[in-house]
Amino acid sequence: MARHIQVDSTRTLKDAEEYAFLAGSIDALRREAEPVAEAMAGRTLWMINSTAQGGGVSEMLPGIICHLRDLGIDARWVVLESTDAGFFRLTKNLHNLLHGEGDPTLGNGDRELYEAVNRENAEALLEHVKDGDVVVVHDPQPMAMAGVLSAHRRDLHTVWRCHIGLDGETQETRAAWSFLEPYHNAYQHAIFSAPEYVAPYFEGRSSIIYPSLDPLATKNRPMPVQEVVAVLERSGLLCEPGPMVLPRFEHVATRLQPDGTFRPAVEPDDLGLLTRPVVTQVSRWDRLKGFLPLMHGFAEFKRGLRDDAPSDEMEARRLALTRLVLAGPDPDSIADDPEGVEVLEELKAAYVALPEDVRVDVALLALPMASLEENALIVNALQRVSTVVVQNSLREGFGLTITEAMWKGVPVLSNSRACGPRQQVRDRLDGRLVPDPEDTAELARALRALLRHPERTERMGRAAQRQVHDHFLVYAQLAHWVRLVGQMTTETKSAA
Ligand code: UDP
Repeated sequence: MARHIQVDSTRTLKDAEEYAFLAGSIDALRREAEPVAEAMAGRTLWMINSTAQGGGVSEMLPGIICHLRDLGIDARWVVLESTDAGFFRLTKNLHNLLHGEGDPTLGNGDRELYEAVNRENAEALLEHVKDGDVVVVHDPQPMAMAGVLSAHRRDLHTVWRCHIGLDGETQETRAAWSFLEPYHNAYQHAIFSAPEYVAPYFEGRSSIIYPSLDPLATKNRPMPVQEVVAVLERSGLLCEPGPMVLPRFEHVATRLQPDGTFRPAVEPDDLGLLTRPVVTQVSRWDRLKGFLPLMHGFAEFKRGLRDDAPSDEMEARRLALTRLVLAGPDPDSIADDPEGVEVLEELKAAYVALPEDVRVDVALLALPMASLEENALIVNALQRVSTVVVQNSLREGFGLTITEAMWKGVPVLSNSRACGPRQQVRDRLDGRLVPDPEDTAELARALRALLRHPERTERMGRAAQRQVHDHFLVYAQLAHWVRLVGQMTTETKSAA
């Protein structure tokens, strides 16, 4: 119960300061954190979520925790655990409902299960949590833990950090918010990822933190061209270009074949990642990520080249050579995610059914998840060799894959109706936003427009990188946490 996750402090703010373009923001951050670290002496800041790996939140936490420690704040990470699969089915449904999807009928049995798991986890954590500590609970899964902890520790500071939401109200979102309502009183403050997501009962005691990325994390750190080549080769995504210094990874990527099986990714041919224009989407196999309409949109883009060929020969060649890479976790790693398995099966069927002349330019890749470090290296390299990154989500809380690509100077095609992409991508400046991710004709047009002019695409990439530097690096988020912790630990709690 309540598993403590070790976070290795390998990345320090000192490392980041070596980069001229990061030094200024870190300097400002250190100055702001000094008095807060003093106020936090002898206290702990707990980050609680429900998974140690997979998804945006667990991507982000290690970096934030390392840096808070670096700033002199004792930050620790705890993951809620349960052996009851029903609990995770319920919380997955709650998660979907907050995105406006899923089954809105939540019964008393659901509440009992939810509270029992939360209570057990909170009780297990009690021996470690002291009065004066700050507890930050992420997302709905462990939301009821704060009430249990506060009942035993009267001087606990509590924050609920919600990473999801829908900009609008539906029967589904109402069901989820009313299910969660009994737990909000245990919190002094809530943080949402966008103003549109703030739940009514948190109005007046909430703030916005945009998600952010760590520019020195394995997935985002600078990668010299030789290393990009090496990572692609070591992960099986590139035919060996010559003798390599480092051996293959133990687990390599595989690629879907026309017969529906996964085989080595260089079969039936090299993917062309170093030579062709590449359009990439890396995501979990989740229906809301919009893989299927993207595949159809790309097929339409390719068909369009036949029906309405570009007059410029170089442009025609560039567009004809373009490939689509759809990448996600390998099937073994999602065996306990029935929706993921189903979505992957749908995609497999759609891929097999593609006309052969389009199928050759679509690669569906299963990325090994056995080593998160190697997975991060692969995603880093894949994003770097992409001409355009797509995040065709029907809904998206934020979309770290977008931030990751933009930081690497790659323009992004995404959905303007999804709140997260809209906050990050400025249409026609950092990439393109289309209003309907299921409108395959619109996707085809946007892809063609993006790929036509390489100079324009590169300029968009530079703007995108600048946009992330200014707003979505971890240092901006850290400053917000530092300020909030400072306020909470100096103000007296209301006698609630
Ligand atoms: N990701 C990954 N390997 C995969 C698929 C996804 O490392 O095979 C990562 C991706 O790079 C990103 C995170 O998972 O860092 C997904 O975060 P995002 O906010 O885009 O979506 P979420 O999964 O949280 O809905």
